[in-house]
Amino acid sequence: MTSTTPNIAIAALLGDGIGPEIVTATMRVLTEAGRKHGITIEFDVLPSGLSALETHDSTLPPETLDRLPTYAGWILGPVATHLYPSDDRRYLNPSSYLRTQFQLYANIRPARSLPGVKSVSSNLDLVIVRENTEGFYADRNLLDGNGEFRPDEDTVLSLRVITRRACMRVAHRAFKLARQRGGQRTVTAVHKANVLRRGDTLFLDCCRTVAAEYPDITLNDVHVDACAMYLITRGTDFDVIVTTNMFGDILSDEAAGLVGGLGLAPSLNQGDERAMAQAVHGSAPDIAHLHTANPVAEILSGKLLLDWLAARASFPALLDAGRSIEVAIERVLTVGTVLTPDLGGTAGTSEMTQAIVDALL
Ligand code: NAD
Repeated sequence: MTSTTPNIAIAALLGDGIGPEIVTATMRVLTEAGRKHGITIEFDVLPSGLSALETHDSTLPPETLDRLPTYAGWILGPVATHLYPSDDRRYLNPSSYLRTQFQLYANIRPARSLPGVKSVSSNLDLVIVRENTEGFYADRNLLDGNGEFRPDEDTVLSLRVITRRACMRVAHRAFKLARQRGGQRTVTAVHKANVLRRGDTLFLDCCRTVAAEYPDITLNDVHVDACAMYLITRGTDFDVIVTTNMFGDILSDEAAGLVGGLGLAPSLNQGDERAMAQAVHGSAPDIAHLHTANPVAEILSGKLLLDWLAARASFPALLDAGRSIEVAIERVLTVGTVLTPDLGGTAGTSEMTQAIVDALL
C-alpha cells in the first residue's frame, strides 16, 4: 500500500455470538466511508470461530492463518470462549492466539464520553494501554499447553508471566501515545507492586526506565484497586493508563461502563507490523442472534485500524475516512432516534448501521 494506491484489503474474522452482525456492520460502514474519500476498502471474510469448526474442523484453520499476513489489517469479532474446551486443539481461541502469535502486544482501549449518551461520567477522555501477550492470562503463557495446573482435586495453580521485554515495549507504546494525544501528557502506570512484589515491581521499573526517554511526559503510578475507584471519582485526571494484561482487561470494561457501556467501547491490538481491530466486549450470548447488538464498538475499532493504517502508510485520506465515521456516529447518538436497546432505543443492529451510513459526510 502506498499513498498513490487507494486500495486497502482487510481480513474479517466474524467470531461468534453477535460477532457476525457487528463485523458485517463494520465492513459496511468502513467500505462506505472509504468510498466517500476515494479509497476502495475491500474485505475478505476468512473462516474463524465456531462456524469454522463445522466447515474446517478448527476455530482458526491453517488456511486463515496462512492468509492473514497478506492483508493490511484485520478485524476480529468477539469469540465465545466459554464454549471452547481448553484441552481440545481444534478449539484455538482466535483472540488470544492471534495476539500472541503475531505479537500484537499493545491493546489500545480508549474510553471517551460521547454526545447524547447517558453516562455515569462526563468529559472522560482516556486511553488504557493494556499489555496483551502475557500476565495473568495463563492460556497464553506457554509454548505448548495451558498454564493452569491441578495437582489435586482441590488445588489449581495459574501461571502469571511478566517479562522485561513485554513491559518495555508496552510502556514505549503508552508514552508515544501520550505524546501523540498532546493533551495532559500523562502516563499512569497501574499495578499492584505492594503485593505482586516481583512481577509488578519489574513492570513499574520498566515504566520508569522508559519515562526517562520522554521528558515531556509525566509518569504517575497508582495501585489497581485505588485506580478502580479513581476512575469513578476523578476519571478526568487520567490521560493514558498503561497496565498489565488482566488489570487492563478489567479496568477497560469499567471505563466503558462509565461512558455508556460495552456497546460503545472500541479497541485495537497493535504490534510493530500488524494491527487487529476488536471491540472490547465479548460475544454477548444473552443477545446473540436477536440482531439488536450495538455495532458502534466494533465500527469504532475499525476506525482505529484506519488511523493505524493511515499513520503507517502516510495515507491521510484514511484518517479523513476514520474521522468521518466518528462524526457520523456522534451525529446518530446526538439525534438519538435510532439507537439499539443498550442505549435505550428499540433499533436493530442493521437499522443503527444504516443510520450511521446515512450520516457519513
Ligand atoms: P460480554 O462482553 O459478551 O457481555 C457483557 C454484557 O454486555 C452483556 O449483557 C451483553 O449483552 C452486553 N454487550 C456486550 N456487547 C454488546 C453490544 N455490542 N451491544 C449491546 N450489548 C452488548 O461479556 P461476557 O458475557 O462476560 O462474555 C461472553 C463471552 O464472550 C464469553 O465466552 C467470554 O469469554 C467472551 N469474551 C470474548 C471477548 C473477545 O473475544 N474479545 C472479550 C470478552 C469476553
